[in-house]
Formats: sequence, structure tokens, C-alpha cells
Amino acid sequence: MTEQRHTALKELQHLDLRILEAQQRISDFDPRFVEAEESALVLESEAEKTRTRLKEMKLEERRLVASVDEKRAREKRLDERLGSVRNLREEAAVSAELEMVKRALQVDEQEAYTLIDQIRKTEERLGEVDETLAQERDVVEPKMAELIAERADAQKGLASFESERERFVGSMDASELRLYDGIRRGGRSIAVADLTQDGACGHCFVLVPLQVRNEVLHGDVLIRCEGCGVILAAPDPEAVAAAAAEEAARVEVAKVAAEAAATDEAYDANADDTAAPEETNDEDTGDE
Ligand SMILES: [Zn+2]
Repeated sequence: MTEQRHTALKELQHLDLRILEAQQRISDFDPRFVEAEESALVLESEAEKTRTRLKEMKLEERRLVASVDEKRAREKRLDERLGSVRNLREEAAVSAELEMVKRALQVDEQEAYTLIDQIRKTEERLGEVDETLAQERDVVEPKMAELIAERADAQKGLASFESERERFVGSMDASELRLYDGIRRGGRSIAVADLTQDGACGHCFVLVPLQVRNEVLHGDVLIRCEGCGVILAAPDPEAVAAAAAEEAARVEVAKVAAEAAATDEAYDANADDTAAPEETNDEDTGDE
């Protein structure tokens, strides 16, 4: 009866470990998304900045063009006035003003040429960035879609583990569950551990006193490890059987090895021509 209780706790822990694993898998996607998108994001930001700069340059170009137009109109008016001056003083004044307008016009025109050249280069650059970005998106988009699908799978897996847990704890003893959850609340993932064959806690390997060990194996009460605080459980019969089989196999291998070593030793002793066992002598006779 109580053994079943421990089995339930272990099963719950097994489930919780799978939930943790699934949560970890899901959060592992975050850096993968960032990494997949990174180069495209860098290009996008560059394209954005270039586009803004281009817009500013075109505004400036428009302002310059208007200024050039206005100065050309003034130049034309002054040229006309120069043809109808009434005296030298007036002519000198109009000429001086015309000269000034022409110089300003030259500066504006030079600035406009430089700006137009810059605009052309920036447009070329933007075209290149946009093209690279489009290529990058062709690579990134399927990669992202793949990651999204993989993450959705992982989330589905997590949801199914979580609903399985919900069903499972519904059938568990409430106080036991509280103890288990309490141990895990501190961020620990292990709350139940089997006693080892040597009678130690399977989590921290602190030796459990014999009396306590018997109580654990008997399984009447929930006993916590004095070393690490996990709930101690009797190992599953299958695990015990598997460990016993493993131990038997180990003993068998050791026995065979010991026998082989003994035979070798006897053989060596014989080769050294010291007092050899009769048995070995017989063997040697047989070999000849
Ligand atoms: Zn322990």
C-alpha cells in the first residue's frame, strides 16, 4: 500500500523532470531565434537609417533647388535693370548686387551638385542593402518557420505533460503532494530518491542509519534524508533485480578473470620449472 505511495511520488518526479526538460527546450529557442534573425535585423536597421538619411537629403535638395531658382530670377531681374539704369551710380549699385547674387548662386549650385552626387551614391547603397536583405530574408524566413514549428511542438509536449501531471496529482494524497511540492519549491528538481544498495541516500549519498533504512524499506511513513532533505524511497523491485543481475554478472566476470589469472600463474610456475601442480603437468603432457 505505502510502497505504491512512493511509486506515485517517483512517477510524479519523473513527470516533473520531463516538464523541466521541456521548459528548458522551449527557452533554448530564444537565443536560436535571435541568432537566426540577427544578420537580417542588422541589415534592416542599416536600410532604415539609409532611407531616413536619403529623405533628409532630398528635402535639402528641394530647398537648394528653390533657392537656386529664386537667385536665378533675381539675377534675371538685375540683368534687366542694368539695361535701364539712369546713371553711373545706379549702374555700380546694380552691378554690385548682381555680382553678389551670382556668387551666392554659384555656391548654391556647387552645393546642389555635391548633394545630388551624394543622393545618387546613397540610393545605390540602399539598393545594395535592400537586395542583400531580400536574399537574407529568403534564408531566414524558412529557418524561422522551422524554429517556430519546432517550438510549437515543444510547447505541445509541455502542455501534454502538464495536463498529465494535473490528472496524476488528482489521485495523490494531498499532504504527501504538499511535502513534495514544498521540497521542490526552493528550485530543487529532485524531491524523492531511492535508497542505494549500500543504504545511502540516492541523491546526496549520505549513509542512512540502519533503523531509518528499515523504516524506509517498510514504507509506513515518509522519511526525509538528513543530509539533503529529499523523501527517501525503497528502490523499485525491478531496479533491485536489475542491480542484482548486474552485480551477479560483475561477480561472474571477476570469477572468470580470477580463474584465468590462476591458470596463468600455474602455467608460469610450471614454465619457471618450480614445483608445479600435478594438474598442470598433465595438461602439458596432453599438449605434446
Ligand atoms: Zn540525501
